[in-house]
Amino acid sequence: MQIKADALLSNILWYHIGGKTKYLLVCQSKQDIVQAIAFIKEKHIKKLFVCGQGTNLIFTDLYFDGAVIQLVKPDTSTITLDGEGIIEAFGGEVLGDLVKESLEQGLIGLEWAGGLPGTVGAGVRGNVGAYGGELKDNLLDALILDYSTDIPTVQKFSNQDLQFVYRGSIIKTHKQMLVVSARFALKKATDQELQEAKNTYEQHILSRQRNHPLEYPNCGSVFKNLREPLQIAKVLSVYPDFKEDVEKKWYGKVAVAALIDRWGLKGHRIGDAQISEKHALFIVNLGHATSNDVLQLIDKVQEKCQEEFGFQLELEVEVVR
Ligand SMILES: Cc1cc2nc3c(=O)[nH]c(=O)nc-3n(C[C@H](O)[C@H](O)[C@H](O)COP(=O)(O)OP(=O)(O)OC[C@H]3O[C@@H](n4cnc5c(N)ncnc54)[C@H](O)[C@@H]3O)c2cc1C
Repeated sequence: MQIKADALLSNILWYHIGGKTKYLLVCQSKQDIVQAIAFIKEKHIKKLFVCGQGTNLIFTDLYFDGAVIQLVKPDTSTITLDGEGIIEAFGGEVLGDLVKESLEQGLIGLEWAGGLPGTVGAGVRGNVGAYGGELKDNLLDALILDYSTDIPTVQKFSNQDLQFVYRGSIIKTHKQMLVVSARFALKKATDQELQEAKNTYEQHILSRQRNHPLEYPNCGSVFKNLREPLQIAKVLSVYPDFKEDVEKKWYGKVAVAALIDRWGLKGHRIGDAQISEKHALFIVNLGHATSNDVLQLIDKVQEKCQEEFGFQLELEVEVVR
């Protein structure tokens, strides 16, 4: 484990935003994680945050008076296969590497995740999903470290034990659990199935490149699309022309990007933070954006939503204070 004191979070997070943390504990293995937890107990550190690549986080610019444990891709890959279609990886491995490796080994099932950023551990915690796939569909089990007690324990959790829901799991609700590693059960593919899976994987990567503002640091979707029937009805009462898109294009939801666009906020900029001109659900960092710039933009959108519909949007991104 590497210990870095007064480390600048903007140097390690995807968004390139965030102040200093008292301790940054960089972990490349299960042993590193055990050491990091021991360090936290020994120093009586009360404030702790676990991260991976930071692709879904906004850390404030303030001093984080605690420790950030970052699980990173190990120098030597931990991605292993067992001949039965089971692939295993450390929580800090990049999910995209796992998907690529599985396809190279003739295994299918994870191709929906082509181009989805982030680590394996965070993916399990949040049950990440895209294009109709979700991580829970292939997850066999995961090693979970529970650090809520004086003596932390590491236990194997089955798919069922993890209590997956839409973009969530028991790890998300429990809050003091960490995904050390995970195993996925994949299908050994025929040549034709494999070719189809590879095509799907590549198409998803291309689609993300086309539609997402990947040329700038960002934190993924800032807001959740609207799913609540009452909220959808409210939006349609103000913008009846969205009805067809809700039914045919947005799978029964209201795309918040379309609302932001309608409010004329697409491209709106505060400091170096900008509501992306390419996709209004993203707020990009044009160079030196601060969390304050981003949070002000979020407030601006929230105010508009409150004023127009009388409710606030739910954040998809996590703000860490
Ligand atoms: C351009 C872009 C596109 C995206 N598209 C999608 C998409 O299509 N679908 C989707 O679901 N998400 C999407 N996301 C969000 C992001 O990919 C996921 O949330 C991803 O799982 C985050 O991984 P991370 O390693 O960056 O986690 P971080 O952002 O570092 O952390 C996210 C959360 O996971 C927790 N965490 C991290 N590692 C662990 C661990 N080992 N154990 C326990 N908790 C942990 C953190 O505490 C935090 O609460 C997108 C993001 C971006 C930037």
